[in-house]
Amino acid sequence: MQGTMQDRPLRLNHFVERAERYTPSKLIVSGTATGVEQRTYGEWAERTRKLVSVLDSLEVPPEARVATFAWNSARHLELYFAAPCSGRVLHTLNIRLFPEQLTYIVNHAEDDVIFVDRSLLGLLTPLLPSFRTVRHLVVMDDGGEAPNPEGVSVLNYEELLSAAEPAEFFLGDENAAAAMCYTSGTTGNPKGVIYTHRSTYLHTLSVLQADSIGVCESDTVMPVVPMFHANAWGLAHAGVATGANLVLPGPRMTPAALADLIVEQRVTVPAGVPTIWMGVLPELKGRDTSALRTIPCGGSAVPKALSEAYREQLGLPILQAWGMTETSPIASVAITRSWLADLPEDELADLRASQGPAVLGVELRIVDQETGAELPWDGSTRGELQAAGPWIASGYYNDDRSADSFTPDGWLRTGDVAVMTPDGYVRIVDRTKDVVKSGGEWISSVELENEIMAHPAVAEAAVIGLPHPKWGERPFAAVVIRPEMTLTQAEVLEFLSGRVANWWLPDEVVFIDEIPKTSVGKFSKKDLRDQFADHVLPSD
Ligand code: ADP
Repeated sequence: MQGTMQDRPLRLNHFVERAERYTPSKLIVSGTATGVEQRTYGEWAERTRKLVSVLDSLEVPPEARVATFAWNSARHLELYFAAPCSGRVLHTLNIRLFPEQLTYIVNHAEDDVIFVDRSLLGLLTPLLPSFRTVRHLVVMDDGGEAPNPEGVSVLNYEELLSAAEPAEFFLGDENAAAAMCYTSGTTGNPKGVIYTHRSTYLHTLSVLQADSIGVCESDTVMPVVPMFHANAWGLAHAGVATGANLVLPGPRMTPAALADLIVEQRVTVPAGVPTIWMGVLPELKGRDTSALRTIPCGGSAVPKALSEAYREQLGLPILQAWGMTETSPIASVAITRSWLADLPEDELADLRASQGPAVLGVELRIVDQETGAELPWDGSTRGELQAAGPWIASGYYNDDRSADSFTPDGWLRTGDVAVMTPDGYVRIVDRTKDVVKSGGEWISSVELENEIMAHPAVAEAAVIGLPHPKWGERPFAAVVIRPEMTLTQAEVLEFLSGRVANWWLPDEVVFIDEIPKTSVGKFSKKDLRDQFADHVLPSD
């Protein structure tokens, strides 16, 4: 028997139409090179509709890729919706990728037009001759100063928009492509994920759940996470869908500038990777942060010490989330379940240092990589984390590497090693390729790093495995000392004793000025491995 309910497609135009009807006076604040700009959702929606006309007048074909090379801003948000709501596909380019990777991505996605912030134009100009399919370059003036590239016709965003009339949205299939995003490619070329209207709609609803991030109309949401990094974790969409005020920091990305925005705009939900929050905390000291409601953080493991430092200073620990470009990205959030809420504070802190239970709509399992058998949720058995759900990718765009990343029964192989607790909390042990394999046993680089970062003199720490004649690999720690503090290898090892098993203790601790970071601000183990490729561990 069939149900008697309406079968209405889940399309992104619904979010824009709600913003224009229900919350037109709510605000989108954008940081610029020179200050902040603000516009209402009503103004933003009208500009988004004009942008649809602009895409039509540029003869950008249906389904063509509309690329952005931009900071987080209201203009970027106009593109976020004008492309999919006119039957085209948004393609956010990561502004920090290596030139060869950008060329690869633009050509692989066959981008038709690129919208670029003036302040970022200098990065793109040298690559223009390598782009095979791009027909238009549209510059968005954001206070930056770069000159237009020579010999290329350059269009101006505001001029195009001021000559355009607002258009109707194109109403297509809910499973049509809405946006695409490439993984930041720590190994090999980046892989493209294509989100649909439906997957983005459902992921947005999930971000609004109280047992997830719980974004609602009364929030002021600040995605510090770039709009090119896995959809800004769904927070830009969540802002439009609910009418929450949005604060988009643009190029104002220094810790001091972010702290100013949090305080001055009375942000309730700021979100970013751990390295962002490491920098911002000292800048918030003694300031009015009373508006803050929750601080979502993910992209890499959140050190317990960092979350606890926030709890001590602001009365608000960090809310850890786990996900991937392939999972839209939010798949689990470390909320505290009611039956665990009375645990001692230290155990609660451990819980918050996990990656939390899967959000409603996502299924997770851990699997033996050799046999494919599902493993028990006993808090100690480690296996590959796999994910399934309506906003989880089922393949990559035009890529023969898809076969390795999905199981025969259609689950995503995340490449993360995890344990599941009996309460359903995921604990990421490591990425498969970062685990230190010592004498056939595994050492979690993530856990070691987190323990080292609990030392008060440590600003950052990353652990990699280096070759060892007897054990195959042994842990090697690179540590950044906080300004005006001192630390020795012996002190680090003494601090770790009792906190981790003795055989986990790094064979060597070196002190460096900075841990190399990836294009999305995570510790780059690949670069660290390259940096110490010829390093020989001391013999015991
Ligand atoms: P990239 O693979 O280029 O880093 P993603 O941003 O898609 O791009 O990264 C997804 C990966 O980031 C996950 O597979 C996992 O290894 C890591 N990750 C994300 N969130 C967390 C978290 N809260 N704790 C530990 N690792 C995380």
